[in-house]
Amino acid sequence: GPFALETGIPHFRTGRSVADPIDPVVVADDSVISGLDYWRQLPIKQQPSWPDADAVARASAQIASFPPLVFAGEVDILRERLARAASGDAFLLQGGDCAETFAGATADQIRNRVKTILQMAVVLTYGASMPVIKMGRMAGQFAKPRSSDTETRGDVTLPAYRGDIVNGYDFTPESRRADPARLVEGYHTAASTLNLIRAFTQGGFADLREVHSWNKGFASNPANHRYEQLAHDIDKAIRFMEAAGADFDELKRVEFYTGHEGLLMDYERPMTRIDSRTGTPYNTSSHFLWIGERTRDLDGAHVDFLSRVRNPIGVKLGPTTTPETMQKLIDKLDPNREPGRLTFITRMGAGKIRDALPPLLEAIKATDANPLWVTDPMHGNGITTPNGYKTRRFDDVVDEVKGFFEAHRHAGTHPGGIHVELTGDDVTECLGGSEQLDEAALATRYESLCDPRLNHMQSLELAFLVAEELAK
Ligand code: PEP
Ligand code: MN
Repeated sequence: GPFALETGIPHFRTGRSVADPIDPVVVADDSVISGLDYWRQLPIKQQPSWPDADAVARASAQIASFPPLVFAGEVDILRERLARAASGDAFLLQGGDCAETFAGATADQIRNRVKTILQMAVVLTYGASMPVIKMGRMAGQFAKPRSSDTETRGDVTLPAYRGDIVNGYDFTPESRRADPARLVEGYHTAASTLNLIRAFTQGGFADLREVHSWNKGFASNPANHRYEQLAHDIDKAIRFMEAAGADFDELKRVEFYTGHEGLLMDYERPMTRIDSRTGTPYNTSSHFLWIGERTRDLDGAHVDFLSRVRNPIGVKLGPTTTPETMQKLIDKLDPNREPGRLTFITRMGAGKIRDALPPLLEAIKATDANPLWVTDPMHGNGITTPNGYKTRRFDDVVDEVKGFFEAHRHAGTHPGGIHVELTGDDVTECLGGSEQLDEAALATRYESLCDPRLNHMQSLELAFLVAEELAK
């Protein structure tokens, strides 16, 4: 029967599967709680201080009663797809806003992001002749970790903006107050975003025969032109195959997955449900969840909670990650060494990746683990310009991607994906790219409330570059 130890995290000690539906934990006062609530006993970082605990409990209870956003079967298929990427037979493309906003969940902006990801995926698929797993940082990427709990402007100090699911961006006491009603609004915004994603990707818009039309509506630029040529080649290939009588149902729809940082426990816990087919817990807020660089403490709440759900899990690894920490994360999050379960998203910085990644890759070869390795070339490359903008240089992004591929080629491991902050709009948030965006240009269209994103053109340019690396 079910049992537990007094301390530590029982299912790893006992060797029982993380999928064990009955996963009780005995806590300090000898009461037994669900493993899914054990995180409440552990140190936790980056949660808002809600002014009204009852209101949060009511909002969480309401969310627990809402339908799941994603389904266990979809999550299981994604895990299989990621397993293929981990073994070098597919590539993961993850992209979207640093912080989605409620106001930004419009049809136009969602469509432009989906189109951008589809275009990048086509570039990668064609260039590398490899299946590309498409995933948006979308439909739930609303909560942000912050380096400080407060923000000071002049002589006013207020709580930091933690994302639209917690508080407002406006720098007033009312707006910065954490508001539990935002949890519910976060759910509904995720639901309508996901509904549109599903319509776009299942309803004919993502048909590969539409490859030209995905380029329409974007300002003309060198990356677009290069894309047009590639689309032309694809068109020709499709028409040839059609003429030859091939059946193209596969081309009409794409699988498109969602992912976000599993950060805000008052949202993630009520979205976690027991799957009736298998009796195991799935976080139904998203197909994929990752643990951020700031919350991946081995004995902390986030690692424990996400160790207990069946979804594929990512962990961000910064430049200070040691092989020992990596090994412990593997043992906690993937004790059964399940294919596709664990993704390491490295975000080392262009200047550090060539030193920081190789020791991890050498160490992984000595283990029985086979995680998926993904590069996030954004988060190690932040700078602030003299005129006060948080930005990144496109050249640094490219350099980190190259360093990632170099390290994997040298180690003989698989470079399995890329994780980027991007938008389909013509924003001016990152420096460089073939448009040569300079510091003065940042002021013209800087819209991100959080980290700077690649614009549509920079995203396409990056895809061409990654395709070249993959084809090497
Ligand atoms: C992010 O992905 O927006 C983020 C905060 O990343 P990291 O945890 O790697 O800093
Ligand atoms: Mn970010």
